[in-house]
Amino acid sequence: MNLKINFLGTAAATSYPLVFCKCKVCEQARKLGGCNFRKRSSLLINKDLLIDLGPDIMSASFMYNISIADVRYCLQTHSHSDHFDASHLSTRLPEYAVENIPKLKLYASNATLNKMSEMLKAEGYITDILNTVEQERLNLDVHPIKALQSFEAGKYQISAFSANHDKSIGSLLYAITEDNYTIFYGSDTDIIPEETWSGFHDKKLQFDVVVLDHTYGPNINGREHLNANGFIKQIQRMRDENLFKEHTRIFATHISHEGNPIHSDLVDYGKKNGYEIAYDGLII
Ligand SMILES: [Zn+2]
Ligand SMILES: [Zn+2]
Ligand SMILES: [Zn+2]
Repeated sequence: MNLKINFLGTAAATSYPLVFCKCKVCEQARKLGGCNFRKRSSLLINKDLLIDLGPDIMSASFMYNISIADVRYCLQTHSHSDHFDASHLSTRLPEYAVENIPKLKLYASNATLNKMSEMLKAEGYITDILNTVEQERLNLDVHPIKALQSFEAGKYQISAFSANHDKSIGSLLYAITEDNYTIFYGSDTDIIPEETWSGFHDKKLQFDVVVLDHTYGPNINGREHLNANGFIKQIQRMRDENLFKEHTRIFATHISHEGNPIHSDLVDYGKKNGYEIAYDGLII
């Protein structure tokens, strides 16, 4: 059986619409609602693998009636606050009277784990997530990983790749395979680094699903993220380099209001350019 992919959130750090913005798209999005309301990006695979313990995962779980309690593996792309909310992890501590929680295996780069420790420290209970005593208190196994490392997590084969995004915290992208079905999760990143392209080939990867950063709309230039033009170039290169299978589906995520129109218009734009637009609550 193919793995089940749940989009818990598809917005950039700012959410969509923006809290205080009265630009045309934010006003339209507010009026239309539905797919136009985007929470901060996070993805659940089956019931047990979460990519990014983001700030909106609980709101998403209430909205879509999905439990996060059975998550056994968490792949953390990086520690930016739109991808990691320390208060969610803190609730695993005995002080919060948690019961019957399965052990959580957490994977992230060393630099991101250090940053996560700082963020947890600010919550008041944990000082060092790499300390085994602290891990015991959180019922957590922490696995520091590096770009180009491949590892197994339960039934999943996973490879980590470097992102073109905040290098100071070792941001990572992931390919996850279950039963010959592979998803590439590419957020957050600007133009994909050469080392990552080589890694795709060295590991003989072909993707069934690609989920890629689409922070900025057409012709909007930002930093550390892809815009629509860059997104299209990346998927073209993936196609040229034979990284797709026959029915590969390509999704834009991490969408900001900067240059990205309302959902239905963005869907039309994507269709013209060979990709789909993810939305909160979408299940593949
Ligand atoms: Zn982000
Ligand atoms: Zn706006
Ligand atoms: Zn980021």
